[in-house]
Formats: sequence, structure tokens, C-alpha cells
Amino acid sequence: MNDNALTIVVPCYNEEEVLPETTLELGKILMDLIESKKISSVSKILFVNDGSKDQTWNIIKDFTEKYSYVTGIKFTRNYGHQNALLAGMTVANDYSDMIITIDADLQDDVNAIPEMVDRYREGYDVVYGVRNSRKTDTVFKRKTALAYYSIMGKLGVNLVPDSADYRLLSHRATTSLLQYTERNLFLRGMVPLVGYKSTKVYYARKERFAGESKYPLKKMINFAFDGITSFSVAPIHLILNIGLIIVLISLIMMVYTLIHKIMGDVVTGWSSLMLSLWFIGGVQLISISLIGEYVGKVFFEVKQRPRYNIEENNYTDKMKK
Ligand code: UDP
Ligand code: MG
Repeated sequence: MNDNALTIVVPCYNEEEVLPETTLELGKILMDLIESKKISSVSKILFVNDGSKDQTWNIIKDFTEKYSYVTGIKFTRNYGHQNALLAGMTVANDYSDMIITIDADLQDDVNAIPEMVDRYREGYDVVYGVRNSRKTDTVFKRKTALAYYSIMGKLGVNLVPDSADYRLLSHRATTSLLQYTERNLFLRGMVPLVGYKSTKVYYARKERFAGESKYPLKKMINFAFDGITSFSVAPIHLILNIGLIIVLISLIMMVYTLIHKIMGDVVTGWSSLMLSLWFIGGVQLISISLIGEYVGKVFFEVKQRPRYNIEENNYTDKMKK
């Protein structure tokens, strides 16, 4: 491979408003790094167009013609943020010694990139971008994020708190990561599983430069839930415990009812019967649906469907030259 070839992978979904500025800022950083000989001159920015419905791909194409260091791949449709990251890393890893992934909206400070590269040159394989404050997030997002990390931790899923998908991975770390063939992708949970020497770089997370979030609340909740069910069977154990407790309670209830019967109190129990009926019914429904969730995941995994489909790829074309 080339000496210290870097590829910056940027997933883009309807990002026409931010792309020119993003290209400018990332380009500046890239040029500085090349000039100071910290990275190879073949280093690239790789935009992954995730089935955008606006002008995103046209803008990317335009830039790839204008700037030698800009490249792009185009999905046939929207496959989601995580798949876009995966595709970018898969394509880039053939020609890169290190890969940095960053969102297109400039919320993650691009100035952390040189620091990540320094850490890589010091011998780290994984460098997490960690935000040092969540001032720009709403109180709600901050609180839910905090609760989420703590729940995930209790379920045995190790996440690096306050790090999202802004990170540097070395060639070998990426290669290892790409060997995880699961369809239910939760990259920020998978990266720590790869191992290797890792470190963190801190930065202040900003507001979105332009446009609006492509992660509305519903998508956020789904993503959070996916994170749990893709990584932990703890919820299944939880059901077992709830079941055991309920069996215990019903045993106590049995003794209680028997005593009443022996003492001759009649026609008791309609309300308690109804209550337990509803309660157990509810618990069963929750339990079955939770198990169904895992079965559903298995269903998608065994199908081994492709995780994305690339229509155009000028990254590989450019690198081959
Ligand atoms: N994104 C994507 N596909 C999607 C949704 C989002 O590639 O289906 C990209 C988006 O263009 C951005 C990144 O994922 O570069 C993060 O999205 P966003 O900034 O909207 O999320 P937020 O920062 O609000 O969590
Ligand atoms: Mg964002």
C-alpha cells in the first residue's frame, strides 16, 4: 500500500445544502495533511450517496471531476447510514492505510482529523472521536443518550460514551471489522469488539451546518433498540426472571386462596382473577413479541441479503490510475 494513504468516508443522504461547504472544509484539512507529508498524496474524500432524492449525487459527481481528491460511490437506493459507512469502508480499504468516517453535516469538528492521523502514526489502530460536551443537543437527547449508555453497559454492550461514527480505523482494523458479516449493523458497538490498540480524540460537537436531521425520533428509537437486540440476549434472560417471579407470586396467591376457601369465605376472587388474567396476558404478549424480535433478526441474518448495491463507483477508477 501507499505510505499513509487516508480515505475520509462521508455518508450522504439528501445533503445538497451542506456538501459544498463539507467538501471545502474536508479538502482543506486533507491538503494540509498532504503538504505536511503526514498522509500520502493519493488520499481521498469518498462520498457515499445513500439514495438521495435531491441533487446530492450531481454535486458529488461535479466535485469528482473538479477535484482529483474527491471521489464518490452511488447506491441504487437508500440503504441507511450504517450500510453507507460499511460500503465506503469496504471500497476504500483496498487502497487505504487508514479510514476516517465522518457525517456530512459538519457536526463533528473536522479539526480533530489531524489529531486522529497523529494518533494513527503513533501506532493506534482505532481512534474514537468523542464529543466533550453535548451543549448543542436538546436536553431530551442528552438525557436519553445518557440513559441509553447506562442501559447498554448493564446489558453487557461496551460502547464508547459520546462517540458516534466519527473515528479512524487502520487498514487491519477495518479488515477485521469487515469480517463481521451481520446484516443488523450497529457499527459503534462492533468496533470495540475488533480489539487492537485504541485511543480517543476529543472535540466539541456543533449544530448541523445546514439542512435537517435525517434521524427523526422514531428512527433514533429504532436504532437504539436495534443496538440492544443485535448485541445482547439480556432481554431474554429478563423475561425468564420476570416469569420466575410471577410463578412465585402465583404460588403465594394459591396459598392465600386456599386458606380463604378453608375458612369458608366464598365468592372471593373475581377481581383478583381478572387482575392476574390481564397481568399475565400482558406479560406473555411482551415476552412473545420480544422473542419475536430476535427471531426476526435471525430471519434477516439467514437470508444473507446483500447489504447494499453500488451503481456507480469512481473511487476505484481513480485509485487504479
Ligand atoms: N445518512 C445516510 N443515510 C440515511 C440517513 C442519514 O447516509 O438514511 C447520513 C447523513 O447524510 C449524515 C449522517 O448519515 O451524513 C448522519 O445523519 P444526521 O446528521 O441526519 O443524523 P444526526 O446527526 O441528526 O443524528
Ligand atoms: Mg448530524
